[in-house]
Amino acid sequence: MSHLKVNLIKCLSDNYSYIIFNPNSKKAIIVDPAEANPLADAITKFNLNLKYILITHHHQDHVDGNIELKNKFNCKILGFADDSKRIPGIDILIKDKEIFNFEDEEIQLNFSPGHTSGHVFYYFKKNKLAFVGDVVFALGCGRIFEGTAKDMYRSVMKIKSLPDEVKVFCGHEYTESNLKFCLAYDQNNDHLTKRAVEIKSLRSKGLPTVPTTILNEKQTNIFFRCNDKAISQKLGLAGHSEEKVFKKLRELKDNF
Ligand code: ZN
Ligand code: FE
Repeated sequence: MSHLKVNLIKCLSDNYSYIIFNPNSKKAIIVDPAEANPLADAITKFNLNLKYILITHHHQDHVDGNIELKNKFNCKILGFADDSKRIPGIDILIKDKEIFNFEDEEIQLNFSPGHTSGHVFYYFKKNKLAFVGDVVFALGCGRIFEGTAKDMYRSVMKIKSLPDEVKVFCGHEYTESNLKFCLAYDQNNDHLTKRAVEIKSLRSKGLPTVPTTILNEKQTNIFFRCNDKAISQKLGLAGHSEEKVFKKLRELKDNF
């Protein structure tokens, strides 16, 4: 199996775009080009051969580099078939659960609505990487713009069901503000207290807190912990469903 490398590229004010490449063949993929220039510079600098751009959702800060990068590197743009009209320059339309081959990796598109109605995440099965756009963030989850809390809950649970060791790459650096929210409603969590120290140290040096892992999120992300008794009790929802707790947390976070 080829071990793919991931370069995190900071874009705009708090976006992360990703370059995933095979260091031997130099063939590369970009996920969610927030803007063309920093990505084009990195592709050129590392002498990569950009083959594909994968899109998680149609928001401007995830597709703005599409056309410029496609013109410059002659790559193909790939996204969810059902949302193809909103993805600039799309060439290859993929269905839910469909697998797309890159080198010997199998990349699976997974429908994950809630933030937008056509949001998807990409799971690299062999390398155990997940590119989740704006569905899950380190210690948080995306805002619901198109869809219901139920949609978002199901999408987050889909990501939570990936293997513990999967590395999770999200679309933004929102971790410090997410941390404040988690600390407010999940007060006796040793994993969270420990992670808070790591996050503060990374951010004080201007370093990213991404990627995270599924296990790390299960232990510390409050949106992954809606089945925790202390949390539901704190919200006055003891004995209620995980989904109900999730919905309440999303509402509280919107006004936090
Ligand atoms: Zn978005
Ligand atoms: Fe975004």
